[in-house]
Amino acid sequence: MSFFNKFKSKKSNNDIKPLYLEKKYLESKLVAGNMKKIVSLPKYVDKNEWLAIHAFDFCMNLKEFCEVIREVCSHNPMMDSIGSECLWTDPVKKVASKVSAKQYTELAFEWMLAIIDDERVFPTKMGVEFDKDFEAIIRTFFKFMFRIICHLYNFHFEDYVNLDLDSHLNTLTSHFLYFGLEFDILERRDFSPLQELIDAWIELSILEKK
Ligand SMILES: [Zn+2]
Repeated sequence: MSFFNKFKSKKSNNDIKPLYLEKKYLESKLVAGNMKKIVSLPKYVDKNEWLAIHAFDFCMNLKEFCEVIREVCSHNPMMDSIGSECLWTDPVKKVASKVSAKQYTELAFEWMLAIIDDERVFPTKMGVEFDKDFEAIIRTFFKFMFRIICHLYNFHFEDYVNLDLDSHLNTLTSHFLYFGLEFDILERRDFSPLQELIDAWIELSILEKK
């Protein structure tokens, strides 16, 4: 293939609008209106407690969505929609390695579930303080989950449509993004693989511009 053809085919691929940006799918979600009231920190609730509950819920829900496409996910290595490889960086060993999307997902959930079970980080007993690094750990949770969500949208959205689960995925994702933006726990520099979806949802008042 000549350089020109290569460039042309790359460009035309980029011009195809992802299915999730089609109006029909963009607005398909189960909860009407915006989520301000749902995500706002209730009076007398500790912020870390609120972050912990949500990190746990999002993690469990997202895991279910990943299970659904597990058998059909053969993307290797894990890529994002803008053509960059997503390396898995072990949060403890700090070693980055090239992995498939399936491995990335499994490693991320393995790490998150172990942390959730760790009483020093996610205390379940009254009067026990949260770990001093709790907020940094929550940021890592949200970073991993956001990357997985990007993969689901950019490589598997059609699978969810075929299974009639697209509105459920949109509900989880809009809630996740609203919460992440509200508490400023998502890194904006990571947004690019889903930037168009985020912008479209801001336009539709599904998300709030922060
Ligand atoms: Zn995949």
